[in-house]
Amino acid sequence: MKIDEVSLTIFTWPGIPATRYTSGSQTAGGASNLGLLRIQTDQGLEGHAFLGTATNPAAMDAAQLIRSLKPLLMGQDPLERERLHQAMRLQSRNVSYRVIGAVDLALWDLAGKIASLPVHALMGTFRSSIAAYASSQVLPDIAAYVDQAQEFKALGWRGYKIHPPRDPDADIKVCEAVRKAVGDDIRLMLDSTWSYGYPDALRVGRAIEAMGFVWYEDPLADEDIYNYVKLRQKLDIPILATEYPAGGLDSYPIWLTERATDYLRGDIPNKGGLTAMLKTAHLAEAFGVNYEIHHSGNSLNNLGNLHLCMSLKNTTMFEVLLPHAAHKYGMARELEIDGDGLLHAPTGPGLGAEIDFALIARQTESVLRRTATKPASETSLNCSVTAPRSSTDHPIPAGLHATRSLPGLAPAPMAPSAACRHGRGRARPGRPGRGAGARRVDRHRGIDRHRIAGAAARLPRSFCYACETDRRPA
Ligand SMILES: [Mg+2]
Repeated sequence: MKIDEVSLTIFTWPGIPATRYTSGSQTAGGASNLGLLRIQTDQGLEGHAFLGTATNPAAMDAAQLIRSLKPLLMGQDPLERERLHQAMRLQSRNVSYRVIGAVDLALWDLAGKIASLPVHALMGTFRSSIAAYASSQVLPDIAAYVDQAQEFKALGWRGYKIHPPRDPDADIKVCEAVRKAVGDDIRLMLDSTWSYGYPDALRVGRAIEAMGFVWYEDPLADEDIYNYVKLRQKLDIPILATEYPAGGLDSYPIWLTERATDYLRGDIPNKGGLTAMLKTAHLAEAFGVNYEIHHSGNSLNNLGNLHLCMSLKNTTMFEVLLPHAAHKYGMARELEIDGDGLLHAPTGPGLGAEIDFALIARQTESVLRRTATKPASETSLNCSVTAPRSSTDHPIPAGLHATRSLPGLAPAPMAPSAACRHGRGRARPGRPGRGAGARRVDRHRGIDRHRIAGAAARLPRSFCYACETDRRPA
């Protein structure tokens, strides 16, 4: 089985409410866009993922995916996921972990469909359900936190996490009020989102430790391992760090060897997908450490999180970030939490997703299939043949070209033209033995064989890789 097409359908996500968790993670409200990633095979099966979130529109990363990762994937066996993941990691200076994570998720979805098994069964199922916790946005006052926590407790949810105002004294007051309002029979967590210096982190930590909070998340700057070590030595409440920075498996060992955190953490867009997360969770298990999964910003990513939860021994709860309207879109059926506050193991093959393809069709902004054309100033090679857009394609963002894929595709017919600026299609005057004006296009005869991801395409010798056009001598 081979991958024979990779495409990204960018669709508008309207009506997102204004939201804030940290100063670096907020939306002013309005619209974003997601990308429906489709990895198709020559056997007719395809894997899906969504690229993008409310705060990071898919259009921001779309060109990276099509330009840098599509050539890696085309013609490859989709079940060689580990090899493909290693190859994508090598591209991490060109593409974000958000992009790698989306491709990895689609490959897991595809693998499950090939095997007719849910993704969690491929990983090895450990459990059939997990408790959800509601994870607040930053709210305007203490009363709002109290109301929200009570609302979810009344719905049967078993946990509530506070994203506080990020002022140590105010944060302690919020935690005190919520604990007093909901009592002791619901798990409470505090996510201070990298807000404090060491003295305040210790003060807040001691306060919520006395209130019986379950964990203390990201009190210090995300890479301040020195002070995390000191803080952990002073507190009994488990510290949960490593949500950021973005990185792969190799970003975690120092947290364990320095004993800087009690639990590890990760998500699909920041750590490179389920492949990296599964490895990290197993690394944590070896140290007797929990791996608490971070919400992942869109509906398909969070469905992927649920599959991973089902396969892990060392995780305890499933994060549902609020408000729902800032994190859920594009599905005919979203994740459901039952009256006992539980999510249950998906049963369909792959992710078992019910994507709302009709909504996506209505909201489509563009369909990206080809590698992006490089700016004129760039001269390195690119595996792409430009062609006129199909009449069914939609308008595309600036800088991107919607195209047909390369393998098996004959270059689009072009009228004879003058040489391009790189010299293809032009006589090379003055070359010894050939005579000025000799009409030789290049040293190759007949064709260039241009190899892309294992699939060869025959291009006419007048094709210029730099400007990606066929310049046949007039
Ligand atoms: Mg967090």
